Amino acid sequence: MTMAQNLDGSPKKRRYIVSLDQGTTSSRCVIFDNFGQTVQIVQKEFKQIFPHPGWVEQDPMEIYSSQYSVMTEAIAQSGIRPYHIEAIGITNQRETTIVWDKITGKPIYNAIVWQCRRTAPIVEEIKKDKALTEYIRQTTGLLLDAYFSATKLQWILDHVPGAREKAEKGELLFGTVDTWLIWKLTNGKVFATDYTNASRTMLFDIHKLCWDKRICDALHIPMCMLPEVKHSSSIFGYVNLFDTEIPIAGVAGDQQAALFGQTCFRKGEVKTTYGTGCFLLMNIGSKPCLSEHGLITTLAASEDAHHRPEYALEGSVFVGGAVVQWIRDRMRFIVDAADSEYFATKVPDNGGVYLVPAFTGLGAPYWDMYARGTIFGITRGTTRDHIIRASLESIAYQVTDVIEAMKQDTGLTIPSIKVDGGASKNNFLMQFQSDVAQIRTVRIQTNETTALGAYYLAGLAVGMFASEKEIKTLEQKDHVFRPKMSPEESQKYLKKWHKAVKMCRGWEDDSTD
Ligand code: ADP
Repeated sequence: MTMAQNLDGSPKKRRYIVSLDQGTTSSRCVIFDNFGQTVQIVQKEFKQIFPHPGWVEQDPMEIYSSQYSVMTEAIAQSGIRPYHIEAIGITNQRETTIVWDKITGKPIYNAIVWQCRRTAPIVEEIKKDKALTEYIRQTTGLLLDAYFSATKLQWILDHVPGAREKAEKGELLFGTVDTWLIWKLTNGKVFATDYTNASRTMLFDIHKLCWDKRICDALHIPMCMLPEVKHSSSIFGYVNLFDTEIPIAGVAGDQQAALFGQTCFRKGEVKTTYGTGCFLLMNIGSKPCLSEHGLITTLAASEDAHHRPEYALEGSVFVGGAVVQWIRDRMRFIVDAADSEYFATKVPDNGGVYLVPAFTGLGAPYWDMYARGTIFGITRGTTRDHIIRASLESIAYQVTDVIEAMKQDTGLTIPSIKVDGGASKNNFLMQFQSDVAQIRTVRIQTNETTALGAYYLAGLAVGMFASEKEIKTLEQKDHVFRPKMSPEESQKYLKKWHKAVKMCRGWEDDSTD
């Protein structure tokens, strides 16, 4: 590694940023130095609580204690001195809702996790009010769903005895996980969130950049319990660690942190995470646009120094890498997910086989809860390898459909897709992605893109990096996949794919039988 130099030619001193990555199943701490190197990673899983079918909770104290312990452990293991830590960055699972008592600091209920479906009936009730539903979409950029924090918060206020009265008296605080961590880490001194997390609550006006009174009133949420909202890259407060005051200087929800970590700083840049599902975010610049294709509009990470918001379009694919799990665990065609690459390339093409993994319906741009999984085009010549190949191809087609929706909504051209997540390691999948979407696919070396995003945001706020341009120089590319297929051929594949999607839609909708 070549050490960067100061203007006078002396080597730059090594400094550090502690990135806290509070995920859905584990708390992680990644320490980076100012040269972009990962110094230490410590991770700890914590308990998931399932009180009823479809309900998901976590203990807020355990979220905090697991996060705090990985932080101190990472610092101790790395041997770095606390006064060499310039800042702390936070990235977190989004939408998860916590309410706590301002005086005692104790949560009044478990954290209701983003996956929890308990408030689906509340959402159905709100949907009856068409004007309010449209107002919510226009104001928050979100599609009305139990996924977001608003109805979870409403549920807590309705179900914990005395909660609403206390909230109205200003005795309770609401926060997403970032707010909870900031509050705990600063000993209750700072009650704040960032734009990216606020935009996932379904209570935030993404145009005026403030909490929305009409939505809060409609959901009976006292506005005095909502935190202050700041740019992702700004000073939130100070944490006393080993007698050193360290600023929290970067905060962003996990997907937006990954968009930043993938250095998608410019309009039209897209990142895709190929995990269990696939999560796509496109930077759409400083003006929001509402989707006509079932995507949501959300705030992206922005810098205090720029004084302007940044927006992103977001779309998800329900079954991404999970189709490979299905091929492995249910079909038992492979032993390891990574083997899918070897078997898929044993055949020259998909042999006309198309698999639509609509196991739980289809997400954007179809939004069809009644669609179910299907395999089309099976002949006597079809082998296990064709089906494995078709399952990998299905991930790429679904991502391409979301990319097309993004292009149509914005009119922007997409220079490349920045990729991460477990299935992005699959070279066949990445090449096929580049082929069908006719876009370069860029994979960077680290898979820690969320932690990387929080590190960059904090680094910018404390002046470790002068600009986004400087951050770009730190990026270490692993591989760039360029389209090898002709546009005509890619169209042929997509046409068949869309035919297969059409055939599997509405399968579970008995009213159409
Ligand atoms: P998550 O964070 O959602 O748990 P990960 O980013 O760890 O997901 O990715 C795991 C998913 O990726 C699994 O669904 C797995 O089947 C899939 N996967 C992992 N490695 C590969 C691979 N080499 N090829 C294809 N799929 C893979």
